[in-house]
Order: sequence, then structure tokens, then C-alpha cells
Amino acid sequence: MGQFPKLCIAAHLMLAISAYAQTTANQTWSEFESLLSGLTVAQSPADLPKYFELPEGWVRGLRTIKAKAATRKGELAACLSLRAQARTNDRDKAMKAYANLMATRNQLTPEKFAAMEKDLRQTIEAAGATGVGGRTWEFGGIQYGDELSIEVRYNKFTCDGEALAAVHTHPPPAPALPSDSDLAHFLSKKGQRASLVVAEKGMCIAVKTKLADGVPPLRARVLHTVYTNGLSLNRVRSGKDTDDDDFAPAVAAAAEATGMGLYCGDIGARLTRISAVDINKQDDLFYLAAKGLEIARYWAFEQGRAAQSSGSGGSSIDYPYAPTLDPRFVTYLRARFGSDIEPALTRGVSPFDFYASLLTLEAEKISFGGGLNGITAPDFRDDIAKPFLSTACTVDGRDFLCSVRRVGYDTTTGTTKTIDFRAFYRSADRSWYLVDVRDGELRLVDDDPTDRYEGGCEYSNMRCRPNGPGTLKVKGEGVTWRVQYSSEGYTKTGKVTE
Ligand SMILES: [Zn+2]
Repeated sequence: MGQFPKLCIAAHLMLAISAYAQTTANQTWSEFESLLSGLTVAQSPADLPKYFELPEGWVRGLRTIKAKAATRKGELAACLSLRAQARTNDRDKAMKAYANLMATRNQLTPEKFAAMEKDLRQTIEAAGATGVGGRTWEFGGIQYGDELSIEVRYNKFTCDGEALAAVHTHPPPAPALPSDSDLAHFLSKKGQRASLVVAEKGMCIAVKTKLADGVPPLRARVLHTVYTNGLSLNRVRSGKDTDDDDFAPAVAAAAEATGMGLYCGDIGARLTRISAVDINKQDDLFYLAAKGLEIARYWAFEQGRAAQSSGSGGSSIDYPYAPTLDPRFVTYLRARFGSDIEPALTRGVSPFDFYASLLTLEAEKISFGGGLNGITAPDFRDDIAKPFLSTACTVDGRDFLCSVRRVGYDTTTGTTKTIDFRAFYRSADRSWYLVDVRDGELRLVDDDPTDRYEGGCEYSNMRCRPNGPGTLKVKGEGVTWRVQYSSEGYTKTGKVTE
């Protein structure tokens, strides 16, 4: 009897101590919590940590959304936020004000934003230091996407106001890597610090740094396409077929080039920083990719109109589907884009940057989507029931084959099927075939695909750019001309042979 009260006192003491210890631990913000809340913003992707850990509240929600996604088609989404539980209201209010400030920062001058941000941060940090607050990492209600869509465009989901991040799911077999439109959507949400994707296998998170501020969302879309296309082009060059699961380094490269860092791993585990791929920006296959984009655009959008108004000027497809920036393609580009294309044609612009410029110009005119191996036009996610044009290069024995195909999506089997070819290029003999725009027949338009130039060169990374006097055998004309090249193109100065 004498011992009983003593035990009770001891038990009370222990409870009090453990409660105290827990509260103290909660008040220390981890590096990851600081980054997710926006209290700290890394200067550049190089300043982001090597790995990432998510708060427990979000991890629980991620497990739930993954389980729900497994039981239904389509994508699910949720908004993620942080709620401060202050004993006094100061910190809670300050956190709300901080989230609002982050969401509306683009409406403020940089000076005004910096001043307000500093004030609020001091209030929040002061509240934390005096030990008045815990915090809850909240996982919002689950939003359901379109069941028929194989990839619901992420912008159907909205997370505004206080949301610090958003998560959505990718149905199998898609990996958890953010798509071109995922990265673009994330950049358009100024207040959000992170974007999460959950798939059947694992998850990924993209985290913003200061460098992401003010980057146009379109830039992320274009770079996602150029890096993923570039990785697959580099692979077919070395005889390796493309494998969807290995595109993480290309997505990481697009994320870093637009001021973000990418992490992937399992839900609840430590997420690993994905290293950006180093691709060969001088690969001439980017010229083939650019021509593929234009051929796809023609058959997706212009075919009907061209038939009505015969002679559609320079925008018809009459250049070789070969990996060159040849005079006929340049003429076509000038007819389509006017002076807007000139910066991309400037000497010293890499094939990679040329392709990126073309994608940027086209994005203002037509609908296309970035795929892993190429592009689709229209963006097949707009309406999967309709056939679309698709560009890709694939390994063919020791060589590779690049093509522009019409593709249909079979909604019952969930697979894509080639309807027919509009163009293809064979690396083995450098031959190319085009569907003739006049009669719609696929034929070998030219067995010697490229205009042949010999003469003065200005070398840029081992590549000859015609400069000064030389000769040019123009295929289709069967004539070799003496030419004089300048930055404006070339002028014919005489005939060499018939
Ligand atoms: Zn997505």
C-alpha cells in the first residue's frame, strides 16, 4: 500500500518527460521541412541535399493514395499543406500569411516581396524558438481524375492558397517520373515548393530552388521533351533500345535546367537525388527530330487545308528526312516562322538548342506532346480516341530506324497501334522515305538523301558549317552548283555539271 502512490508519481513524471521531449523534437525543423515549407529556399539545384525525407503526415497520405489508385483507373491527386499548431495564434497566423505570400509573390515587386518575407520569417522563427508550436503536415482530400484518360492532364486538379505541394498518381505502367506537363504545371504554381508523383513502382518529388522563379512553364515542357528525346537518340546511336524506366536522368536534367531538383524512391524511404544525364548536344539526329516534328505537324494539322489551297508555299514537306540542316529545310523554316527562326539558325547554335527553339516556336502554334522517344501531334492526351502522329527512333539490328507514324490508341486493350508511316529514315544506308504530299503515296523520294556540299567550312565542335566558296550538288535538280555561303545562306555563282 505504501508503494502504490510512489509508482504513480514515477509514471506521471515519465509521461511528462516524454511529452516534453516530443514537443522539443517537433520544434526543430529538419532541412527537408524547411525546404518544403518554403522557410528556406535553396539558391540553385547544386545547393539541394543529396537525398530527401518526407514528413510522416505526408507519407501516411501517400500510402493511402497509392492504395486507392490501385483499385481504379485514371489519376488521383491531393493537395499537401502544413498547419502550425501554435498555442498562441501568432505563429499559425504567420504561417498562413507566409503561405499566402508565397502564392501571390508574382504580383509583388521583388523588393516588396523580400521585405514582407523577411518580416514573416522572423515572426515564425521567433514563435518556434519560444517553444509554442508543433506542426501538422496535412494531406488533403483525394481528388479523382477522368477514368477514361490514360493520362489526365494535371492541370485539371487545383491546389491553391496554402498548399505547399501537390501529389498525383500515374497509372501503370507509367513510371513515377514527372511528365512534360507535370513540370510545366508545377512551375506555374508560384506558391508550391514541391511536386510529387506516385506510381505502382515508387514515387518521385521535384523541389524548386530560387532559380525556378520566373522560368516560363513552357521552358520546362520543351526541355523535358528535348532531354528525353535526346537520351533516346543517344541510346539508339549506341545500339541500345529505349527503356521507359531509365529516363529518370533526362527528366532530372530538364528539372535542373529549370531550377529544380528531382528525387525518387519508395514511399516512406529516403528518396535519392537523380543525377542529370549528360547528353551529346551536337548530335545531328536532333535535326532529324526537328524534321519529324514538322512532318508530323503537316499530317496532323495542315494536310486538309493544303489540298484546298494548292501551292501552300514553303510550308509543304519537300526537304530530305535526313539528319541535316540543309538549305531546303532552312527555306521551309523561314517560310513558316519568318524572322522568328533566325536566332535558331545562327552559327554556333547546337542541334540540341536548334530543336529546343523549334519546339518552343511550335508550342505557340499547335498542340503536341512530349514523349520519351519523340513527340505526338496533336498531344495524344487531349483525345486518346483519335489517331495522332508520332515520331521515334528505334534500334534495328546493328542500325536504327527513325520514323513519323500515324498511330491509333485502342482503348479496350490499352495499347497503341501503327496505322501507317508518313516518313522513315534508315541509318544503315542513310536512305529516307517520305509520303508524297501530292498523292499520299509512300515512296523512296531520293536514294541519295542529302544535298552534297564540298568547300569551305567553319568548324563548330567538329561539325562543318558551310562558309565561303564551295560546290553544292542539289538532289532533285541533279546539278552541281558553284556556291558562296554566308550567314544568310548561299548564293549560286555558276554551274559545274549537268
Ligand atoms: Zn503526371
